Amino acid sequence: MSEKNSETKELRDKLFAKKKNGFFRMNDEELSACDAFCEKYKKFLDNAKTEREAVKAAVAMLEEKGFKEYKSGMKLEAGDKIYRNNRGKAVLMAIIGTEPIETGVRLCAAHIDSPRLDLKQHPLYEDNEMALFKTHYYGGIKKYQWTAMPLSLHGVIVKADGSEVCVTIGEDDNDPVFCITDLLPHLATEQMKRNLAQGIKGEELNIVIGSRPFKNDESSESVKLNILNILFEKYGITESDFISAELEAVPAFKAKDIGFDRSMIGSYGHDDRVCAYTALSATLDCENPKHTVVTVLTDKEETGSDGNTGLCSSYLKYFIEDIAEALGSNGRTVLSASQCLSADVNAAFDPTFPDVTERNNCAYINKGVCVTKFTGARGKSGTSDASAEFVGRVRLLLDKENVIWQTGELGKVDMGGGGTVAAYIANLNVDTIDVGVPVLSMHAPYEIVSKIDVYMAYRAFAVFIAD
Ligand code: MN
Ligand code: MN
Repeated sequence: MSEKNSETKELRDKLFAKKKNGFFRMNDEELSACDAFCEKYKKFLDNAKTEREAVKAAVAMLEEKGFKEYKSGMKLEAGDKIYRNNRGKAVLMAIIGTEPIETGVRLCAAHIDSPRLDLKQHPLYEDNEMALFKTHYYGGIKKYQWTAMPLSLHGVIVKADGSEVCVTIGEDDNDPVFCITDLLPHLATEQMKRNLAQGIKGEELNIVIGSRPFKNDESSESVKLNILNILFEKYGITESDFISAELEAVPAFKAKDIGFDRSMIGSYGHDDRVCAYTALSATLDCENPKHTVVTVLTDKEETGSDGNTGLCSSYLKYFIEDIAEALGSNGRTVLSASQCLSADVNAAFDPTFPDVTERNNCAYINKGVCVTKFTGARGKSGTSDASAEFVGRVRLLLDKENVIWQTGELGKVDMGGGGTVAAYIANLNVDTIDVGVPVLSMHAPYEIVSKIDVYMAYRAFAVFIAD
């Protein structure tokens, strides 16, 4: 290399931003820790396909680590580990730090609801001797993606007497599954003229659930009767009980490695269980933090965070107020000094659809956890836009701790956009920034993430809450 070339190289190294594949920055030991971590994550994905199941799984893990259910008024001191279950659909957890609570909490937030098909309140009907369920989709989906594949059913049914039945059917290898039909190409001439958004319409998302009539009964709705009889025998429910039920149809397939190199994971519901699991794991692994750690796994992000289990409600604020008061302070003071990693997935650059992303400012698979200064649509509508100062603090921390990270926006300006819960937390006067894992095929029944990025999200939470 000539003297001039080596001088240019030196200058490039010094001045250019580095955007290397994370693989080059990890040693064998770290890579095997990464792969081992992802095996546990895959199990979590399979056991927690809905917000209710994610709460159940999280609570079991918390209790195993000595977290106690917190009741308002309980005394607290440094080292205490507590959690609060919000209606079985969201969960909050905290570890009391050694610093005074007035110095604020380190808050991690992620959501555990994912796009899916909910059953309507009168779902069951018979049409030409087939039994079907009517659905109402939840969150932003491309409807055509949900046909012609196996679906499982998850949720709860509250019976007329107030008792509750939990339902999970379609996950065990011996279980039946369910399916939405699509039209055969031979007869789809008219359907094929519809645009992609209309390809399958909301009222066409009907799930096939049976086809045999009840015994020798040839009267009308005998197939429906037979299904109701099966449900009565199995769950003790009648048709009216669907009114007080929350039943969710989700893809029946399991999380699997993707690629010959097994570098990625394909699964339903990475958005946002990938951030929920990593934030939860970092919290479970945290011992004696300086600042009080609060992690919230919330519901209803996919529909706009409204409702009492979504982050527009006051449940997070109340939890922090309760902790503040138990430690002799008040919620306002604590929240105002707090810092938050608001964790949600981001769109990864897709070589097949490169035109929607701006290459200098999008997230890439394998380049680590993605830090996003602002989200929103058009002129940053609906974002909290983290301050340069807070971005600077997070950047310094991640670099110091050798966390592999990148920055990325959700697509090109004016291409679309989307928000996260960051704005609602920032509205509580908390310094908040978006972080998350880049995802391919986001909101599809089968989404893809990189193992390196999953592990780096875990590490980002771990160093943030320990700082
Ligand atoms: Mn999300
Ligand atoms: Mn989403």
